[in-house]
Amino acid sequence: MRQTFGLVLQGLSTVTLLFTQLLPSQAHPVHHSSDAASPPLFAQQQSVTAGVPIRGCLARPKQNPPEPNLETQFIPGALTLERFRQQPGPPSVSAEAAQSNAPQAALNYIAQHQPVEKIALAHPTNFGERYLNDYQGQPAYREPIIVLHETVISGPATLRLFQTNHPKNSQQASYHALIMRDGTIYYLVPPDKRAFGAGTSVFASSKGDETVSTNPSLSASVNNFAYHISFVSPQDGRQSSRSGHSGYTNAQYYSLAWLTSKTGVPAERITTHQAVDRAGNRTDPRSFNRSGFLSLLRLYPKTNEVMIGCTESASSRPLP
Ligand SMILES: [Zn+2]
Repeated sequence: MRQTFGLVLQGLSTVTLLFTQLLPSQAHPVHHSSDAASPPLFAQQQSVTAGVPIRGCLARPKQNPPEPNLETQFIPGALTLERFRQQPGPPSVSAEAAQSNAPQAALNYIAQHQPVEKIALAHPTNFGERYLNDYQGQPAYREPIIVLHETVISGPATLRLFQTNHPKNSQQASYHALIMRDGTIYYLVPPDKRAFGAGTSVFASSKGDETVSTNPSLSASVNNFAYHISFVSPQDGRQSSRSGHSGYTNAQYYSLAWLTSKTGVPAERITTHQAVDRAGNRTDPRSFNRSGFLSLLRLYPKTNEVMIGCTESASSRPLP
């Protein structure tokens, strides 16, 4: 199926058919109700959502952090979607969309549809702080990037993995957001916190190589300024070989465009795990249709409802 899709895309001379390719078959209006296709929430979620992760970042990591390095403080309260993104405005299309040759059906879908959003906070061992300075005291702020992934395992298995207590650094992993096959977005880590989505990694930008070391015992990575989003892989994507991967659903692409349009991150700073990986063993997301995604992204209005950045003003807390 992936090969067929690729061949079709290569043969297109206009983006019109591309949009048709990416148009969800079920174009329905705004809805927030849970649906049968979504996995259930998990019992262990209750114990980790007893509080709300405090907002903001820290000045500098500890020189010799213990395992696990649990610096995130929780304040009492109910964890709501607003901890992950500001209340979004009603669905709408960008000003640019009117000038595009996107089919009306795609524009109608975007103007009427808001993805289902759910919370499944990662266990506190699986995420940490963003820092203004690296462990040596050098400035660590970089403009945010978005790093795209795929899970390889199922959506429910991914949620269980991230909600498991992982006391050792080598076990810890998380994304900020997970996009299910039906387009449902699960928020796992607040955007101002550091998800552990990449190991040894560098973002090669027009400014040069960007990476930050926040732990002297671990390799430098992009995690301090990255917002990690992952697609749940198709069944055939759970094999290790690159061939036979049927790719991601249209609903996943639309949800990704909806979410990334709210981060303020420009297209040139949206990258993949494969592109930033320097360990040499990451190839995800394997079947990502970047050109189709960018065509979709242009149709969404750009806002800053998902606050990724770690700024001086955010760091009012003293080091623990
Ligand atoms: Zn990855």
